[in-house]
Amino acid sequence: MELYSKRACELIELIRKKDISCVEVVQSFLNRIKEKDGSIGAFLYLDEEESIKEAKKNQESINKGNELGKLAGIPIGIKDNISVENMQTSCASKILEGYKSPYDATVIENIRKESGIIIGKTNMDELGLGSSNENSSVKSVKNPWNLNKVSGGSSGGSAAAVSSMEVPLAIGSETGGSVRQPASFCGVVGIKPTYGRVSRYGVVSFGSSLDQVGAFGKDVRDCALLTEVISGVDSKDSTSVNIPKKNYSENLNKDLRGIKIGVPKEVFNDLDSTVRNSFEESIKVLKENGAEIRYCSLSLNEYALATYYIISSAEVSSNLSRFDGIRFGRKAENYSNLEELYVNSRTEGFGEEVKRRIMLGTYVLSKGYKDEYYRKALKVRTLIKREFENIFKEVHTIILPTTSGVAFNLGEKRNNPMSMYLSDIYTVPANLAGIPAISVPCGFINGLPIGIQFLSNYFNEEMLFNLAYSYEQSTKWHNINPQL
Ligand code: GLN
Repeated sequence: MELYSKRACELIELIRKKDISCVEVVQSFLNRIKEKDGSIGAFLYLDEEESIKEAKKNQESINKGNELGKLAGIPIGIKDNISVENMQTSCASKILEGYKSPYDATVIENIRKESGIIIGKTNMDELGLGSSNENSSVKSVKNPWNLNKVSGGSSGGSAAAVSSMEVPLAIGSETGGSVRQPASFCGVVGIKPTYGRVSRYGVVSFGSSLDQVGAFGKDVRDCALLTEVISGVDSKDSTSVNIPKKNYSENLNKDLRGIKIGVPKEVFNDLDSTVRNSFEESIKVLKENGAEIRYCSLSLNEYALATYYIISSAEVSSNLSRFDGIRFGRKAENYSNLEELYVNSRTEGFGEEVKRRIMLGTYVLSKGYKDEYYRKALKVRTLIKREFENIFKEVHTIILPTTSGVAFNLGEKRNNPMSMYLSDIYTVPANLAGIPAISVPCGFINGLPIGIQFLSNYFNEEMLFNLAYSYEQSTKWHNINPQL
């Protein structure tokens, strides 16, 4: 069995026992990337030399009898909106072309402290805006299960890289589902932690009140391990919260006795029959593992998508104003006055979807419309939060499909933004409320993977990992790999 086909936790154990070396591990994944990424397009940047150097350093340390950190020399792919010192941070946008980060984001510092190796930067929808990865200004990411399908977005590069075994672990980010939706489309595990659980320092902002860094792994234990490494309070991010994190990967528990799972009846009634079947099957598995199922009502779910697109567009239009060709971002070559410099830099630097959101966001924030749209959306957001808080008085978790269907064809929704936005329908509620949610593979429809997600109360990631683990260990989905 090739090293690249093993899970991060297995590799770590083998490295610790000195059965394999850190260099062999990194080399195996580098070879895999070289062999497969031409057809997938998950990576935008690869740091071969530095990765091998790091691996050698780690191995020397092991040979001297030292203990490595929790990630023990495992290579990790990082979404290209997260700053890694001396690597590009392009956000797959022309506006940041050629930009190299002068410092490490806090999540990267945390990974390095635990001996993780940053192997390169993964592809994404431009600046995080999108659900299919087709908005990357460089190339679209193809779905490893079917190269004619999208990988999901915006963290499609990270999801596809893990799914195709180009890396055992990857980091993504979420504003409205960008970890969970591609995790579902690519058949891997992905988590969006509670807002405040992971530092956003060094992450290029999209919607600051929604953004959160998340982890991808092939299975729940791997995803739990990376999550515990990146979590924690950070003095550089005032929205990070000092609530002790646990060693999620060490305390996984299959037994669900005493756990109450809420199934929102509105959602259940809306599902198309194929998704509904796998959803019903999943519920059965959870019951067999001891959980009690209770029907609940997410009555405000129908407003979540509109609320999300108003708030996130408002915030992104403001956040992206810094990319003006002077303070940040590539400067246009041709201009005759200051205004033209701004206009030309932004016109040339931003893609179509980014411009659409800037216009939408500016509109909902403008005088006369702010109360009607932006303020109203903030109120609905509070109601959505309260609805979740009330449900969590009755149940420990809510289960939802991650997506309403499997990965769609490349090009299918490109010219129809509304139908593209609809693919976030089940993921955005967790972002609006700020609660954690995890997606885990729950089956296949026409040869393509699909996921279910668990949502829980604030800072209860431990509950999510246990539920997802219990479900995963009773099913076979996580053991099936795409044939590439
Ligand atoms: N697809 C959503 C959007 O385009 C979510 C993106 C994200 O989570 N970064 O806004």
